[in-house]
Amino acid sequence: MPTPLLAGNWKLNGARNEARALAEAVAKGCEDVDDREVMIAPTFTALCAVARVLDGTKVKLGGQNLYWEDSGAFTGEVSGPMLAETGCSYVIIGHSERRQFFGDTDYSVAKKVGAAHKAGLAPVLCVGETLEQRENGATLGIVETQLRHGLVNLPQQGYGALVVAYEPVWAIGTGETATPEQAEEVHSAIRGILESILDGEKAAGVRILYGGSVKPSNIDELMACPNINGALVGGASLDAEDFLSIVHYQES
Ligand code: PEP
Repeated sequence: MPTPLLAGNWKLNGARNEARALAEAVAKGCEDVDDREVMIAPTFTALCAVARVLDGTKVKLGGQNLYWEDSGAFTGEVSGPMLAETGCSYVIIGHSERRQFFGDTDYSVAKKVGAAHKAGLAPVLCVGETLEQRENGATLGIVETQLRHGLVNLPQQGYGALVVAYEPVWAIGTGETATPEQAEEVHSAIRGILESILDGEKAAGVRILYGGSVKPSNIDELMACPNINGALVGGASLDAEDFLSIVHYQES
């Protein structure tokens, strides 16, 4: 079983002082954690301050997005090497909010995944269906397309660091969570797709996170599912107590 990963996506929240205080609280609360990994992804402007707080702690740093070129005339963008030199070891790619509001497509997501690998960052590739797609029975097809297209630029040696996050769009920030059965159905399909790309042992080692209104009250039942290897947490990661309860979920 891969080491579980509990990741906090702070989105567009947390000015520098708030971010620093939240990171300090998370790092302190993770001192006793050694059988799972924890990552937080603040805004770009808070990355340096949070990196200083996390230095020497058990909590890893992640970016929320990146651009695929290393440098150049790309106003407003941040590259993989820039995230890496800031102390990031992870980067979230293809979050549904980026696909919905900022024009990310399977094509750009694939370029970003390749760039993350090149920069030595572990890509957290987000996939997930909308409510309409679920109601039309298209969930597994949508997730397969997003996953296969998202991975086209990842060489075989990049799969050891890959993290996939299944995030049903209808569950993000809505308070509505996929049931463990709904989540496990998609996670096991993702595992099957990975097995068709990689050999079995390597596919079993890829962490597949669930994301979508994860809270202290539902993390235990989600983590009890065989193919759920962690969580990508939005809203609840902004509250240190809630996030730390999620990190300290009870194994069944
Ligand atoms: C997310 O943004 O990745 C997310 C899952 O958000 P929330 O936990 O708030 O639903």
